[in-house]
Amino acid sequence: PVLKVALMGLGGYANRVAEAMQSCTKAKLTGIVSGTPSKIKDWQNKYAIPEKNCYSYDTFDQIKNNPDIDVVYVTTPNALHHDNVLRAAAAGKHVICEKPMALNAREGREMIAACKKAGVQLLVGYRMHFEPKTLEVIRMRNAGEFGKIMFFQGQCGFRIGDPTQWRLNKALAGGGSMMDIGIYALNGARYMVGAEPVWVTAQETKTDPVKFKEGVDETIQFQLGFPDGTVASCLSTYNMNYLDRFFLNGEKGFAELQPSTGYGPIRGRTHKGELTQPHKTHQTVQMDEMAGILLEGKQPLVPVNGEEALKDLQIIDAIYQSVKTGRRVDLHLG
Ligand code: NAD
Repeated sequence: PVLKVALMGLGGYANRVAEAMQSCTKAKLTGIVSGTPSKIKDWQNKYAIPEKNCYSYDTFDQIKNNPDIDVVYVTTPNALHHDNVLRAAAAGKHVICEKPMALNAREGREMIAACKKAGVQLLVGYRMHFEPKTLEVIRMRNAGEFGKIMFFQGQCGFRIGDPTQWRLNKALAGGGSMMDIGIYALNGARYMVGAEPVWVTAQETKTDPVKFKEGVDETIQFQLGFPDGTVASCLSTYNMNYLDRFFLNGEKGFAELQPSTGYGPIRGRTHKGELTQPHKTHQTVQMDEMAGILLEGKQPLVPVNGEEALKDLQIIDAIYQSVKTGRRVDLHLG
């Protein structure tokens, strides 16, 4: 069987996912949801999508009667994820939601509960969880090849352009760099260390309060503490380029990925040498693997469900709290 996917919110990332899905063997773009009629026409032509599988935000709820759609993939701005996921679940469709799953843990819990109640699955677009070099580092760690994990460093950022974009609008983005790119360092700390943090500390630096308004973080440094004493030190920024690097240190070895989360080939090495797993377009692999999860009940090595995303949201809530209070915040994830 092939997973029949409707994309909702036809922006930059939806375009990338649609392109990548053309090379999928187990997932297919069969529907679209957009508030812009001209985009619907363009996408229909490009991807041969029949009229009956095209929805506006007004007609979307009728998707429940459409057997050509198994899952709605939500790629709208962050603040809209919550309501869009609730609508898709109410229509009886599985949902894939982009990261960050929501603006905070409270919203995240509501989304998990709504999907559970509707009997549909909720997955989040954590494409790195399927990336071969990343998975090799995780395999090596699980096999004990790094020994006891001592330290992780994750640095993720870029210099953001256009000051009018939604990513710099608190109401639509829910925050700044941390919501958008810092989440990769945070989520990476968890899957590279292979444990859940028990405390967080965080500090914010803002050099341009005009571009980065109240509630929109420019740069955040945060530290995570794990139960056995392992620590992570991370940087999230909208003000520096060439920042996409993971470093994992253990008693018997290390792994370094740079770039660690970008779309292009991930590069990496460990104390044993270069990582040589071949590059495949992340979103192609992700969608084929998600088809396996949704249709065949496959279990990924690193989870990509709502509960996994909720942990990131809980930690982000704590990061913002620590920035505000200047204090360490204890975490009780789940
Ligand atoms: P974008 O601005 O290019 O696209 C957003 C789309 O949502 C646009 O087509 C816009 O018209 C539509 N939209 C629907 N309702 C809207 C409203 N009320 N206000 C504004 N726009 C509305 O953004 P993007 O880069 O495609 O990001 C979309 C989502 O995907 C974000 O949550 C982002 O974090 C995520 N994303 C994930 C990755 C990844 O690698 N996993 C990469 C990029 C973006």
